[in-house]
Amino acid sequence: MSKRSTELLSLYETLLAQVKSDYSDDNSMTVKELFSIVTNRSEFLSIKDRAKENELALVEHFLKRDIAAYLQDKNDTDLSHSPTVITVENTLWHWLSGITDRSQIEWHEVLQDFKHQGHYQSGEVIGQGNMICTHCGHEMKIEFPGIIPDCPQCDKSEFTREALAP
Ligand SMILES: [Zn+2]
Repeated sequence: MSKRSTELLSLYETLLAQVKSDYSDDNSMTVKELFSIVTNRSEFLSIKDRAKENELALVEHFLKRDIAAYLQDKNDTDLSHSPTVITVENTLWHWLSGITDRSQIEWHEVLQDFKHQGHYQSGEVIGQGNMICTHCGHEMKIEFPGIIPDCPQCDKSEFTREALAP
């Protein structure tokens, strides 16, 4: 794992922890409100540490992409009965499971921005997901925030994401 990836992961975890704590203070927030909290928290962190400004912008994007992907999965399948979602506490999936039903219209809007960003690269941070290698089709399950590795089968670096199977 490169030094940069390690730093991205640690920033992701910092940002996620702050957003999560805001969300548990007020879990009636809508998706749009949640997204603006991600933006605000990220801006605040980059004011404190100018050196990490670029990394924080990336990490902000990763986290929003994870939230959008969660909402997309939730839209496609009913994940609320998934054993993964129910048992794996402290994951994005778990603490977000209450947010979707309240704000359907909003989150359709939010999803539009992420629809065409289907590809994931090794070295990027992802909260959770099933990564499929675009080259050989190899599947990698990622259940906790981590760095996407190169494909262990063919060493390529591009992936698409599927929902973690319920
Ligand atoms: Zn592969």
